Amino acid sequence: MSVRQHTLAPNTAFATPYYVINSHRSGPVFMIVSGIHGNEPASIAAAQALAGKFQRSELTLGRGKLIIVPLVNQRAYRRKSRGVPDLNRTFPHTAKYRAGHPLSDALFALAKRHRPVWYLDLHEANGLSQHNPRRVGQTLMVSRGTRAASAARRIISIMNRSVSVPSYRFNIKHRERAGTSRMAVQQLLGAKAVTVETCWSLDFALRVKYQQRIVRHFLKAAGMMN
Ligand SMILES: [Zn+2]
Repeated sequence: MSVRQHTLAPNTAFATPYYVINSHRSGPVFMIVSGIHGNEPASIAAAQALAGKFQRSELTLGRGKLIIVPLVNQRAYRRKSRGVPDLNRTFPHTAKYRAGHPLSDALFALAKRHRPVWYLDLHEANGLSQHNPRRVGQTLMVSRGTRAASAARRIISIMNRSVSVPSYRFNIKHRERAGTSRMAVQQLLGAKAVTVETCWSLDFALRVKYQQRIVRHFLKAAGMMN
């Protein structure tokens, strides 16, 4: 296994690191993206922690290739803001349409180059979906009827066995919104794409733990980790 650090949008004000973890064995390409919104710190911390664990060989990739972009929008993160414009509305809607921001353009180009089979976009949100089904906190968001949706449903049932507080349990959320990175990689690159949302009001360390655990369940489901 090798772990290489690269730079997304190099030589621009938006430059940010990403990691390519290569098992050097055949298998799927899996992409994890976090920090498209700058004010969702647990998802960013989880992606950074996972990259660090692979760098220190505390985690091993058994098959395929894993790409982690832990903090897409560095500027928004420093300002603790979601980001202006909202990057997750600027990804290409159609193959002819170009992304509306240098960061979403660079991120989509990276995905296009690697053609991920799996794509996880890590986020955080307000509210608990168990309390209010209109809230997206503690959900996995997918497009209805996709293979990603059935995988997400299985992972939610595995995850929820280890979530002791009933109101913290995860639900599936069906949502389609053009311009999001999930919809772009799903529709234009054919990836199995899922948005992970933890709830802001929970303890930070717990949110980081949930995010990491969900990622690892998906990597196991993809046959890339034990
Ligand atoms: Zn978000």
